[in-house]
Parts: sequence; structure tokens; C-alpha cells
Amino acid sequence: MLAGVFGRLGAVLGVSLAVAGCAVSPTGERTLLLNSPAQMNAMGTQSFEQMKAQLTIEQDAQTNRYVQCVADAIVMQVPREYGYAPQDWELVVFKDDAVNAFALPGGKIGVYTGMLKVAGNQHQLASVIGHEVSHVLAQHGNARMSQQMVTQLGMAAATLALADRVDSNTQKAAVMALGLGAQYGILLPYSRKHESEADTLGQGLMAQAGFDPREAVTLWQTMAQKGGATPPELLSTHPAPSTRIHQLDAQVQRYMPVYQQARVEGRRPDCDRLKPR
Ligand SMILES: [Zn+2]
Repeated sequence: MLAGVFGRLGAVLGVSLAVAGCAVSPTGERTLLLNSPAQMNAMGTQSFEQMKAQLTIEQDAQTNRYVQCVADAIVMQVPREYGYAPQDWELVVFKDDAVNAFALPGGKIGVYTGMLKVAGNQHQLASVIGHEVSHVLAQHGNARMSQQMVTQLGMAAATLALADRVDSNTQKAAVMALGLGAQYGILLPYSRKHESEADTLGQGLMAQAGFDPREAVTLWQTMAQKGGATPPELLSTHPAPSTRIHQLDAQVQRYMPVYQQARVEGRRPDCDRLKPR
């Protein structure tokens, strides 16, 4: 019995490892990716469909045009090697006062109207969307879930090691925990390392799109000031604002020439003209 259960556990992990495994992130970090991109895209798409069904979608045309304008400029700059074409991205603006935004594998972007009150102009909104899209490009959801799977495999193995003292239901529960982790991992907070990488990639993307990289610093300063008793929703999934602001500020010098070059080449987004007043 015990050997049988271990065999199944081995099969679960073995199949995953055969699909993916150790990879290197866009900024050169070694990372464990156990899910295939297709699995992640399917999960991202499914979660997004659920959110569209459960949340209120903003109908105001002007608001939608404004956010779409910023998102379009950002996704145009996503290098093709990531497997996304500009038209693959779907944006939905949710009518909700929460200061929040996210992106999911499969090319899904969600922006809450509450975010538009904190992100004061197109540059700041671009810094948020660039950051969220970068989490997807760097496969941070996959990495986070893979980490959980390994942790839970360890827990399951520990439970099974006591198998002669536990009943078969406990053994089944341990095996099932592997699958559950995969379902609940998709909307949990990112690690500091992932935040830092998304900041770097995102600030680069916004600069390349012709948005001012200095505004990323301003946005997170504003966000940090709004902490306290009712911190913005985004902060619950995006911790450590002070280290983030410091890093973004340090990277401004690196991205200003990218921004200036984009302007010279005619990438001068003018989304603010669409912004609802
Ligand atoms: Zn983030």
C-alpha cells in the first residue's frame, strides 16, 4: 500500500518534471517551473472568466478607452520571445473602489477603477500595468505554484512516512493536497524577489513604450502614503513599498535614455486626453 502511494506521488512529480523543470528567469535568476505554459494559461484564463462573472465590469466608454490606450502601448513592447502577440492580451476594467490591478497567464489584465484614482496620469497607470504584465512574462505564478507543490509534496511524504499509523483517508488527503495547491496558488502574494524582478522588467517596458520611468517612483510613493488602516489592496499582494521605491528610483538613470529614445522614435502615448475628468 505504502509503496503504491509513493509510486503515485512519484508519478505526479515525475510527469511535472518531464514537462518543465529548472529554468532561468528574464533577469537571470534560477527558478523551478513545474507547470507547462499551457497549464498556466488555462488556469489564468479560467480565473479571469470567474472574475468577469463575479465582479462588476466598468461600462463607461471613456474610462475603458483610457485604460486600453495605456495597456495597448505596454503590450506592444513585449518581446515576441515570450510567446505573446499584442492582440493576445485581453483587458477588463472592473468597477470597484479597491486600489488594485493584476495580470494572469494567458494574457489577461485586470484594472480596478479604484486604481485610477491613485495612478494620477497615464505614466503612473503604465507603471502598474507594466509591472503586472512583467509578473506574467517572468512566469512568477508558475514559480510560486511550483514552490508550493514542492512544499506540499514534502508534507505529503512526511504524512505517508507515518502511514502505518494513519488510515487510508489521511493518505488520500495527503495526495490530494498536491492538486489543491495548484488551484489556490494563482492569486497569492508574490515574493520580494518576484516583486523586484517585475519592477525592473516593468519599468523597462513602460520606458520603451514612451512612458516616463520617473513616474513609477511617484506612483509607489503615493501608494505607500495610502497605507495605514486601510492599505490599498495592491499592497496585500505586493509587499515592501520602501525597498521598491528605492530600487525604482535607482533604475531611473538606466531607463531615462530608453524613454527618450522611444519619444524620438515616435512612441509618445497620449492616453491622458481620453482620461475621464
Ligand atoms: Zn507585483
